[in-house]
Amino acid sequence: MTAAVKVRENQAGAQASAGVRVEGATKRFSGPEQPAAVSDVSFEAPRGKITALLGPSGSGKSTLLRMIAGLEKPDAGRVWIGGADVTQVSPRNRKVGFVFQSYALFKHLSVFENVAFGLKIRNAKPKDIELRVQELLALVQLEGYGTRFPSQLSGGQRQRVALARALATDPEVLLLDEPFGALDTRVRIELRRWMLELQEKTHTTTVLVTHDQEEAFELAQHVVLLADGKLAQAGNPHELYDRPVTPFVASFIGGASMLSGTVRSGFAWLGNLPLQTSTAAPDGTLVRAYVRSGDVRIARPRGTGPDAPSARVGRVVRLGSKVQVSLLLPSGEALNLEIPRTELHELGIETGDPVSVDLTDAKVFVDDYAI
Ligand code: ADP
Ligand code: MG
Repeated sequence: MTAAVKVRENQAGAQASAGVRVEGATKRFSGPEQPAAVSDVSFEAPRGKITALLGPSGSGKSTLLRMIAGLEKPDAGRVWIGGADVTQVSPRNRKVGFVFQSYALFKHLSVFENVAFGLKIRNAKPKDIELRVQELLALVQLEGYGTRFPSQLSGGQRQRVALARALATDPEVLLLDEPFGALDTRVRIELRRWMLELQEKTHTTTVLVTHDQEEAFELAQHVVLLADGKLAQAGNPHELYDRPVTPFVASFIGGASMLSGTVRSGFAWLGNLPLQTSTAAPDGTLVRAYVRSGDVRIARPRGTGPDAPSARVGRVVRLGSKVQVSLLLPSGEALNLEIPRTELHELGIETGDPVSVDLTDAKVFVDDYAI
């Protein structure tokens, strides 16, 4: 057996245990002079887990999801589902369930008929359909709603029907495109909790598109972050949070403030704030540092030395039990943090007051390289 054949067999073995695998996916809607909507993206969505495709609007999330579903034909690249190469397989035969942001329920069909739809077109027996639909309505906590029509449901209930309908045919993969995007905040948060419980029961491999970092981190065990149609970073949420590989990842994840600075004697000096680094970069190297709100400590200034005032309090926004504080540094840059309301009271500070600032951590980059 040649080495090449062996490698291919090993790859096939690895794919058999995978949920979804995308290799080099590329899609261009316009001419070659325009950037591709999705450009050479590869990632794996582990079996039985929720993977979030995260990124700003227009970063190519929906296009990528539609390529997995078979609704969009890639210009290049391949897609595997459950170990099988489905690149040439029609959407109908890919064993995927799809839920969009806008309610794609059939308005003229009852909840029961909506959920039964996929089973009917597969010619399931009426008795089996009845059993399966009742089971699914129980699963999405809509028992007794079978005879209602979509117009008689709340937004959250409609999305649960859409999920039941997507699950009806036992898909190998559930593909969700901003399924909670059109709902108000309270319902969205409720549905996220519910979605986690559902996932614990069904263990369906799920790929969820969202532009909301909080949603991605709450729901997903694996996150694939896109920027401008390219893969920015993939990994578990903690990896992206703790070890962002580019300034884009550092700024997108965790709502960081960006401060510019200079390397001096192993420290990154962000204006008058020193940050210890392990860099070998020569003195004078310009850096960009991304500071998360949780990595800033403030105190009332005490005289001179390290505790001397290093910033002034700018805007203070009280959000219930948390307070957003914007600090103004002598450089003119702003450093944002969030502290409990009790801490603000203990500090007794207000807009205009001087404070001393201590950075416990920051992600520091020279160009695109973390130092
Ligand atoms: P996202 O879901 O992350 O917001 P999309 O995948 O919808 O991003 O879009 C990525 C890029 O591709 C955008 O620039 C968008 O305008 C473009 N695009 C998406 N679908 C089409 C289409 N059918 N025709 C032309 N351009 C498209
Ligand atoms: Mg989209």
